[in-house]
Amino acid sequence: MTEAKQAIDWHQRAKTLIIDGRAFINGVRVEAVDKQTFECFSPIDNRKLADVVSCQSADIDLAVAAARAAFNDRRWAGLSPRERKQAMIRFADLLLANKEELALLETLDMGKPITASLNVDVNSAANSLRWFGEAIDKVYGEVAPTADHTLAFITREPIGVVAAIVPWNYPILMACWKIAPALASGNSVVLKPSEKSPLTALRLGALAIEAGIPAGVLNIVPGFGAEAGTPLAMHMDVDCIAFTGSTGVGKKIQIMAGQSNLKRAWCELGGKSANIVFADCKDMDKVAAASAGAIFYNQGESCNAPSRLLVERSIKELLVKKILAHLPEYQPADPLDVNTTMGAIVDCGQMANVLKYIASGKEQGANLRAGGEQVMLDSGGFYISPTVFDEVTNDMAIASEEIFGPVLSIITFDSEEEAVRIANDSEYGLAAAVWTQDISRAHKVAKALRAGTVHVNSYDEDDITVPFGGYKQSGNGRDKSLHALEKYTELKTTWIKLD
Ligand code: NAD
Repeated sequence: MTEAKQAIDWHQRAKTLIIDGRAFINGVRVEAVDKQTFECFSPIDNRKLADVVSCQSADIDLAVAAARAAFNDRRWAGLSPRERKQAMIRFADLLLANKEELALLETLDMGKPITASLNVDVNSAANSLRWFGEAIDKVYGEVAPTADHTLAFITREPIGVVAAIVPWNYPILMACWKIAPALASGNSVVLKPSEKSPLTALRLGALAIEAGIPAGVLNIVPGFGAEAGTPLAMHMDVDCIAFTGSTGVGKKIQIMAGQSNLKRAWCELGGKSANIVFADCKDMDKVAAASAGAIFYNQGESCNAPSRLLVERSIKELLVKKILAHLPEYQPADPLDVNTTMGAIVDCGQMANVLKYIASGKEQGANLRAGGEQVMLDSGGFYISPTVFDEVTNDMAIASEEIFGPVLSIITFDSEEEAVRIANDSEYGLAAAVWTQDISRAHKVAKALRAGTVHVNSYDEDDITVPFGGYKQSGNGRDKSLHALEKYTELKTTWIKLD
C-alpha cells in the first residue's frame, strides 16, 4: 500500500491547513514593500486558498541584495563542499518530514492528484536536493596538460546570484531541480514560483533555514511574470537566470539577459514530443498503456508529454482501440481522493486554452475519438476529459502547438523516413520515443530524432542521474545530472609559472 493510500482524510486536513502567502527574504517571511497581494485559488473547486504577496521591483531589489550580501561574505559559498552537503541532505530530510503538508499544498494549489503529489513530486524534489548535496563533495577540478615550466589548473566556482523562475506544472519539483545544483555549488538563489502555484515553493524557505542554510542564501519572491519575473531577469546584480517555462517567455528572458548585464540565461522550455510506433513492435498492450499513461499523467500538463502519437498505418486502428480502452483509468475525479489518477487543470484560463485547441482540432478536420469536454462542472473546478484525436496531420494546430492538457493527437505514417520527418518537423525537440523490435531501426531512428531524450520501447523512464532538456526551441540548458552543475558554475583557469 502506498503512503497516500493510508487512511488520511485529505479534505479534513485541508480545512486545518494554515497557509502563509508572504515572501521569504533574508531568512524571514515578509510582506511586499507596497503591501500588494494577489488571491490564490484552488483549481479543485475554485475556493480561495490565500492572499499571496505580489512582489514588485522593490521587493526583487531587496531579495537580490540579500542574496548578494550572502554570497559576498561567503557564509554559504565559503563552507566546505562537505558542510554544504550535510545541510542539503538535512534540507531533503525536512521535505520528507513535512511531506504530507507539502503534498496537500501542491494538490490544492495546482490540482494534481494527492497520490502523485505525495509519492512523486515531493519525493522527487527531496531526492534532487539529496542527490546534488551528495554529489558536490565528489566533484574534482582538472590539471591541464601544459608545458613543463607551467602548471594550469581548472576549477569550478559558484557563479554568484542565481535567479530561478519556474512554472506551475510541477511546482516544488521544478524549484528543486534549479535550487539543488545552484545551492550545492555555493550560489545564493532568488526563486520566483509561478503565480498559479506559489505555495509549496514558499514553504521551502523556512525548511532551508531549519536545515542550516544561512539566511539570505535562498530567497523566494512570489508574483506575476511582468511584475516580479521581469525585474529579476533585467537585474544588473543577478549573474545567472535559470528559467523553466514556455518558449515565448524563454525568448523574452534571453533578450532581457542581453539587454541587461549579459547574465547567463538557461531556458528549459516547451515540447511537442513524438511517440513513434512501428508495426513490428512486439507488445501493443504495453505501448497503449505507456502512451496513455504518459500523455494523461499530470492532466497532460507535462513539458515532455508524448502529445503526438505517430503510428504505422497497418496497426493504427488496433492501437487506437487499445488506447481508448485505457481512458476509464484517466477520467478526472476529486484530486483529494487517493484513487484519483487525473485531477484538475491548473486554472480557468488554461482550461479555456485547452478547450480552444480541442475546438480547433475539430474545425481543422481531425477525428475526435474520445473526450473533448469540460466535465465535473458541479465541482466549481476545472476538469477536462481525456481527449483523443486521430486523422491528425502535422500541420494542424493540435499537432504543431503545445496544448499542455490531456489531448492526444494521432498521426499515421507509411515509412521509417516519413516517421522521422514528421517527428522532427516541429519547432520543439524535448523528448521522443520509438517502439520497434528491430534493433538497427531503434538505433537509426533514435539517432535521427532531434530531441534531448529519446526512449526506446518505453516512455516513462526517468532518473535524477540523466540530463533533462531540449533541442531547438525546447531550450538550451539541462536540468538534473552532474551536467546541471555546469549551469551554475564559472570555469576558472589558474596558471602557475614554475621557475
Ligand atoms: P510561463 O512561461 O507562462 O511562465 C513560467 C514562469 O515565468 C512563471 O513563473 C511566470 O510568472 C514567469 N514569467 C512569465 N512572463 C514573464 C516575463 N515576461 N518575465 C519574466 N518571467 C515571466 O510558463 P507556464 O505556463 O508557467 O509553464 C508551462 C510551460 O513550461 C510549458 O511550455 C512547459 O512545456 C514548460 N515546461 C518546461 C519544462 C522543461 O523542463 N523543459 C518543465 C516544465 C514546464
